[in-house]
Amino acid sequence: MSLDGQTALVTGASRGIGRAIAVRLARDGAAVCVNYVAREAEAEAVAGEIRGAGGRAIAARADIGDPAQARALADRAAGDLGPISILVNNAGVVFRATLETYDPAGMERMRRTNVDGLLHVTCAVASGMKERGYGRIVNLASIAAHGTTLPATTLYAATKAAVIALTRRFAMELGPHGITVNAVAPGFILTDMVRDGRTQEEYENLLRTMADRAMAGRVGKPEDIAQAVAFLCAPESGFITAQTLTVDGGRMDYISHA
Ligand code: NAP
Repeated sequence: MSLDGQTALVTGASRGIGRAIAVRLARDGAAVCVNYVAREAEAEAVAGEIRGAGGRAIAARADIGDPAQARALADRAAGDLGPISILVNNAGVVFRATLETYDPAGMERMRRTNVDGLLHVTCAVASGMKERGYGRIVNLASIAAHGTTLPATTLYAATKAAVIALTRRFAMELGPHGITVNAVAPGFILTDMVRDGRTQEEYENLLRTMADRAMAGRVGKPEDIAQAVAFLCAPESGFITAQTLTVDGGRMDYISHA
């Protein structure tokens, strides 16, 4: 499966899962726009690593929660690297909260990136894909949206449930134009997102618990998610659309009636 001659825009690609996706799509042949919002050095390092391996890449700052910046990002990626045929809506944030600690401002900040940001970038890229009659869009959801038992992720889950709903609706709208839209729902993946806001002891306990709850007996790596995204981005995956591919090592702690 080759992506030679294609251009991919990956939001939030300076670290974590987005970084692994950018490197993987570049390895498969795509020119890659590495988006970031704050960590310029990390994003430049990702783009530099891709170029060092013989690929084409740029780093581009944009807060995707701002529609004007999202459009400028899409224009810059297309202008520097060529028409965008692959969009990976990866950028996301988490604010952990329960009903007791619920803070409307935190929820709003989360929704602004996880839901509005995805919408802004998709709108900015979809019209060009429609004109050319081809595209692959992959959205990063989460198994939180399916209902896991990890505490304090309820509001985050609501934003990711929205991602799954938008995935299916966009797939219906864009399908007649040769564009597939799918989601990947990661389980527990080792990135800053799961480490931040926890003590070392809490983090280590959580790692053990999450590994025990997965049939694979381990937690995930960003490359595990990049593998699924690359599969959905392949030209050969054109008959797969409106799907959510769960990549969680077989997690066994979903809320159920059992
Ligand atoms: P991460 O390590 O925290 O990285 C987040 C990335 O998003 C960074 O590149 C960050 O840029 C970027 N970003 C945040 N807000 C942005 C904005 N407004 N505009 C543009 N970029 C923005 O996260 P991750 O764990 O790799 O997660 C990637 C995606 O997978 C997210 O959608 C997340 O919800 C989802 N996910 C993760 C897990 C997990 O276990 N890690 C599980 C399920 C789903 P800067 O570096 O510049 O700040």
